[in-house]
Amino acid sequence: MIRRSIAVLASVSVPMVALMLGGYQGGLFAQFALYGVATAALALCWGFAGILSLGHAVSFGIGAYVAAWCGINIPEGGTILGILLGGLAAGFVSMLVGLVGLRGRVNVITFALLTFVLLFGAVEVVNQLTPITGGFNGLAGVPSLNLGDLWTADPVSQRVIVTIAAVGLLWSLIVVARSPFGGVLVLAKTHAIRAASSGYNIPAFRIGTFSFAGVVTGLAGALFSTQTQFVAPDQISLALATNFVLWAMIGSRTSLIGSFFTAIVISFITNELADRFLTVWLLAMGIIFIAVVVLIPDGVAEAVLKRLPERWHPRRVVTLTTATEDTSGGGAALEAKAITCVFGKFTAVDDVNFTARGGVHCLIGPNGAGKSTLLNALSGTVPPSNGTWRIGDTDLTKMRPWHMARAGVARKFQTPAIAPELTVAQNLAVARMGVTVHPLALIFTKWRADLTSTAWRILEAGDLVRLLDTPAFRLSHGQRQILELAMTFASRPTLVLLDEPTAGMTAGETASVAEILRTEASALDIPIVVVEHDMALIRSAASAVTVLQAGRVLATGTVEEIENNADVTRAYVGEGH
Ligand code: ADP
Ligand code: MG
Repeated sequence: MIRRSIAVLASVSVPMVALMLGGYQGGLFAQFALYGVATAALALCWGFAGILSLGHAVSFGIGAYVAAWCGINIPEGGTILGILLGGLAAGFVSMLVGLVGLRGRVNVITFALLTFVLLFGAVEVVNQLTPITGGFNGLAGVPSLNLGDLWTADPVSQRVIVTIAAVGLLWSLIVVARSPFGGVLVLAKTHAIRAASSGYNIPAFRIGTFSFAGVVTGLAGALFSTQTQFVAPDQISLALATNFVLWAMIGSRTSLIGSFFTAIVISFITNELADRFLTVWLLAMGIIFIAVVVLIPDGVAEAVLKRLPERWHPRRVVTLTTATEDTSGGGAALEAKAITCVFGKFTAVDDVNFTARGGVHCLIGPNGAGKSTLLNALSGTVPPSNGTWRIGDTDLTKMRPWHMARAGVARKFQTPAIAPELTVAQNLAVARMGVTVHPLALIFTKWRADLTSTAWRILEAGDLVRLLDTPAFRLSHGQRQILELAMTFASRPTLVLLDEPTAGMTAGETASVAEILRTEASALDIPIVVVEHDMALIRSAASAVTVLQAGRVLATGTVEEIENNADVTRAYVGEGH
């Protein structure tokens, strides 16, 4: 309630300030609010999606130039058309950049350099295309907001409309960031493969986010040109691109509101001081920047938030319910044939055949035997060099991880893969929504998910139910394992692949997890393939065991058969176990 009132107050105050300031200052304020929007769009990409653009001014400049050109050259409706086209053009260019740089596994540095190179290209285009862009001189005489002959904005309504639009654009970014869609971005930032295995096409999420940020920034740039009535290469320059990054860094890249206001405040100070104390001010900016990087690397807004009482913190209310049980989909067996994974000249998994029916199927073997690699292959995260596998009638061989998740495959990774910045409940909701909600609908849905009773039992066993609203970075290693295990079962899977699920858990937690796995596997009649070292768990839960050694299947059978198998004993004794 308090938080909502503050948000409404802040939104209304921005156009109010534009109205109350004098003509010159008010005009500047409207311009800086548009810089704020662009900075917040950068923060959405950087702080939430983990993609940094060093060429963010390109989107701003495209919007500004397209709107300016249309406003000047198309007499009737050119301004409105130009603003819309400016946003679309910036979004289109961002989408192309995303298609080039965000498709596969993303390296932050590589992508940042790509956008940096793009910036220089764009600056060159603007300087060379003089007949259209006006070259170094830019384009003067851009009309203010107007509807042709019907209406032309006077300076006061111009800046009030611009600031209202700026607040609207900021809110559109905030809606995305705080929705489950933003939650997926945050999970993918730390564990892209986990997010993919939860049912999300992560490259599409990233390209979509980057394009959307491009549209918003383009619209901001377009409005900027109607506000200044002039557009120059400054609007697509290295200086502006650098400023966007600095403002987001100082304001907090994880706080869109923080970035927005930081851009406005620093722009004002720069404008006031730069004329009089230019050198001193540049030096001061440098020192402020270094101080922030060293002292509050998360930015001012985050630092302030940390000092505020807990109830002021932005927190998503997540509604978790219990799913009405339905065991359809059970009864299908996993059949893997001739799975082979070759890395260079090294064969990590070598012609592995195995069938797992409803029940706990343990996969054991010495370190480096290829257990994790086999699970990676079966879950589509590292496509194998050869082999086919299916669950019941569904052929999984060619599926991408997110298709597999939607086909019922759930995976837990060897080291806990969760989103530390999200709460426990948000992690669970993201894990569940990957198979229930359409990706675009994620922007508009509430944080709400129905968990399976299995997931609830796992949470209870790990005593996590009382920690649902706790940010996951506060959890211990064992608690993170429990959380990811619950996330795995939250998607109501028909095949479960678990990589050392009990590593780091206490003996008590391990025992209750073993009990849950055993009862759920038989109740749901689904194959649960578990890589495990803990003999106590294997004895109490496994209905079948497959032993891997050097990438090959050494033996398969019941626990008893495996324990009495001379080859297995030799392999383990040879390993020094
Ligand atoms: P386990 O889980 O049984 O301990 P892994 O499946 O993690 O074993 O690894 C099996 C072997 O494959 C190891 O020798 C490991 O170094 C190698 N390996 C795993 N992943 C890769 C990779 N991406 N590139 C090269 N070698 C790999
Ligand atoms: Mg392993």
